[in-house]
Amino acid sequence: MTTLPLVFDAPKRTKPPRHLADLTQEQRRAAVAELGLPAFRADQLSRHYFSRLTADPAAMTDLPAGRRDELVATLLPELLTEVRHVETDNGMTRKTLWKLHDGTLVESVLMRYRRKAAGTAERDDRVTVCISSQAGCGMACPFCATGQGGLTRNLSTAEIVEQAAAAARLAASGELSGGPTRLSNVVFMGMGEPLANYTRVVAALHRLIDPAPGGLGLSQRSVTVSTVGLVPAIDKLADEGLNVTLAVSLHAPDDELRNTLVPVNTRWPVREVLEAADSYAARTGRRYSIEYAMIRKVNDQPWRADLLGELLSGRLAHVNLIPLNPTPGSDWDASPKPVEDEFRLRLAAHGVPVTVRDTRGREIDGACGQLAAKA
Ligand code: SAH
Repeated sequence: MTTLPLVFDAPKRTKPPRHLADLTQEQRRAAVAELGLPAFRADQLSRHYFSRLTADPAAMTDLPAGRRDELVATLLPELLTEVRHVETDNGMTRKTLWKLHDGTLVESVLMRYRRKAAGTAERDDRVTVCISSQAGCGMACPFCATGQGGLTRNLSTAEIVEQAAAAARLAASGELSGGPTRLSNVVFMGMGEPLANYTRVVAALHRLIDPAPGGLGLSQRSVTVSTVGLVPAIDKLADEGLNVTLAVSLHAPDDELRNTLVPVNTRWPVREVLEAADSYAARTGRRYSIEYAMIRKVNDQPWRADLLGELLSGRLAHVNLIPLNPTPGSDWDASPKPVEDEFRLRLAAHGVPVTVRDTRGREIDGACGQLAAKA
């Protein structure tokens, strides 16, 4: 009996095709110059992609008809192909499974939140897309489904940006329940550790926040980078001059427990992670978020709430408690509601701002920590 070597089944690890969203405005101008076209054509093409949200040559009537297909083929190749999507919350939450050019699979989740208090619901909507920065993840947090499969590869800048652009297109199309709307927030809380794919993620951040024609023009505060706490990368991010929101996955106030929940803690312990987040906050003047998954009888004891409260009081931090979402291969459950309430009240008693995440998509395995991109 012969078996084929596994390598024949493995996805090809070729570089993704070059895309406009990989490039700075300057590089886009150079790329159109290579095609013998004037620099302003790069701006026009960028506007189609980032503002008009189209990659359809027929819609690009301000570009010379004879060159449109070539421009699109050269700078707007299709990077993500939808394999399927699933919806929940009456069509207000949608998880999409994407196939990349080499067969790699990633997921993103779009969530529309309607503001109840507002008079004109349309304008007050919050439309958040949770995007992936890597296929898989190398951080091995035992309560997260993405970590169980290990890291497949880093995503390119454009593969990251295109998830947000696809969400913007979907929001604008009116296909999402509630009618046409606009993408307002991007969170790097999908698959992967964004700061482990640092250069591409920082370039993607620029594409998300740069005004047209350079990027999508989102406000910095509505873009959130969530990290396990890679201290040197947090320090570096603070020096980029960016103002995006930082979220730190703490999950335990003490090193002994955090070493097991977020294994990278053995390299950068709680104290160092918080100091790095403090410096980031001092640089940007913006509060950071502490993410804390509430895991029954693991990290939800009242004494841990007090310890966390003591650690954070006086810091420019806010705690976001996340009821643990179930994942295959883990026996852990979410803390019961009364335990969560007690934890929250103890933090508040220390003067620490605390909220409980309105976690979405659990029914479609689309909630925090559930993205595994199974075909
Ligand atoms: N690698 C980044 C982004 C990952 S996901 C990070 O760790 O911050 C975003 C958040 O979901 C993180 O805080 C992560 O710890 C949390 N999370 C992972 N698995 C979860 C689960 N099963 N239930 C609830 N939150 C989870």
